[in-house]
Amino acid sequence: MPFGNTHNSLKMNYSAEQEYPDLSQHNNYMAKVLTPELYASLRDKETPSGFTLDDVIQTGIDNPGHPFIMTVGCVAGDEETYEVFQDLMDPVIEERHGGYKPSDIHKTDLNFENLQVNRPGPHPDTRSTSTDQVHIYRPVWFPLNHLTLVSRTFQGGDDLDPNYVLSSRVRTGRSIRGFCLPPHCSRGERRAIENLSIESLDVLDGELKGKYYALKNMTEEEQQQLIDDHFLFDKPVSPLLLASGMARDWPDGRGIWHNDNKSFLVWVNEEDHLRVISMEKGGNMREVFTRFCTGLTKIESLFKERGHEFMWNEHLGYVLTCPSNLGTGLRAGVHVKLPNLSKSDKFGEILTRLRLQKRGTGGVDTAAVGGVFDISNADRLGFSEVELVQMVVDGVNLLVDMEKSLEAGDTIDDMIPEQK
Ligand code: ADP
Ligand code: MG
Repeated sequence: MPFGNTHNSLKMNYSAEQEYPDLSQHNNYMAKVLTPELYASLRDKETPSGFTLDDVIQTGIDNPGHPFIMTVGCVAGDEETYEVFQDLMDPVIEERHGGYKPSDIHKTDLNFENLQVNRPGPHPDTRSTSTDQVHIYRPVWFPLNHLTLVSRTFQGGDDLDPNYVLSSRVRTGRSIRGFCLPPHCSRGERRAIENLSIESLDVLDGELKGKYYALKNMTEEEQQQLIDDHFLFDKPVSPLLLASGMARDWPDGRGIWHNDNKSFLVWVNEEDHLRVISMEKGGNMREVFTRFCTGLTKIESLFKERGHEFMWNEHLGYVLTCPSNLGTGLRAGVHVKLPNLSKSDKFGEILTRLRLQKRGTGGVDTAAVGGVFDISNADRLGFSEVELVQMVVDGVNLLVDMEKSLEAGDTIDDMIPEQK
């Protein structure tokens, strides 16, 4: 069960060489970057709250690799981790985030109006031919006001084919300044974050009005149902989570807040202080992203009103526990049926070129079943929120078009995208 941290001051009685981890079987970004020299130069440093190099890298030592994704292999214990252990973190960030340099500045764009239509041909609303589709898709005022229809439909992101795209989701993380992050926070800090979250989220109204459900007050069945329905984080079974120290004291201080129809959700004290999620069935990513931006902006001001800001700086954007999530922290994804395309030996390369990532539909530790995948943006940093969602919308539209071609017995050779 949950591991603690690796604090032990007697270790300084041993040389750096005697303490150096065995990384010979490892394939993660930390293991690529760490050298005995770097270890020796950083091992006696600690952040103001007492997070050490060994705490930073423990998860990458205990998890040599991951079957589905290339993991980062290190975590932050507080906001200062990224500064104090910069010599390790900067190259890890550069490797993980496509060459993002220590001098680079991150951009934020949470204006959903900036999503574009980037596909050739008419919008699916206007392409419908069968009577049924005309009935479903065309607003009744279509013949009277064609211009309105054009401006309404040509916004982008609302046209992922629901015959293939089962659900759409956008999530990010946020950390509250002044508290240690989950791998290092104390029970008191964690409970303070939980209380602050309940107090702030309680103010949300309208479509976003909801309630907090503490994990410790849920029955086993209620918890499992929420997990099975893709609303709640998994139990702390993942070695990635356990080895970083994030699962200490489970389930104390953990819970989920959600609105009545579970389209807007906030996870409290899982991998990040807050995980903010907007999701719904079908392929209207624009609607999902709109609710995400609106809700997130409100949450930020509610915390500010209570004297708490989120961890953020110009270079790293939003500061989160896992260096893979820095910047936007945004993962926009769909559950999409790709039974034919996923059998193609070009599938992996196509995803890489579109800057997308695949997972199973049960979360990061699961494999895809029955040709249904979780397809999401691979990047978090160096691109704005709008740019990342745009990548997912455009990329998924292309993947679905390819799937349809293969289904019809055609080749996809002339559809292979350039590297984005
Ligand atoms: P995260 O990056 O948010 O931590 P995980 O891969 O750990 O994502 O998955 C967390 C949960 O969210 C899982 O139950 C997963 O099935 C669900 N999920 C992720 N993407 C989608 C989606 N597009 N539609 C429905 N559920 C999703
Ligand atoms: Mg997760």
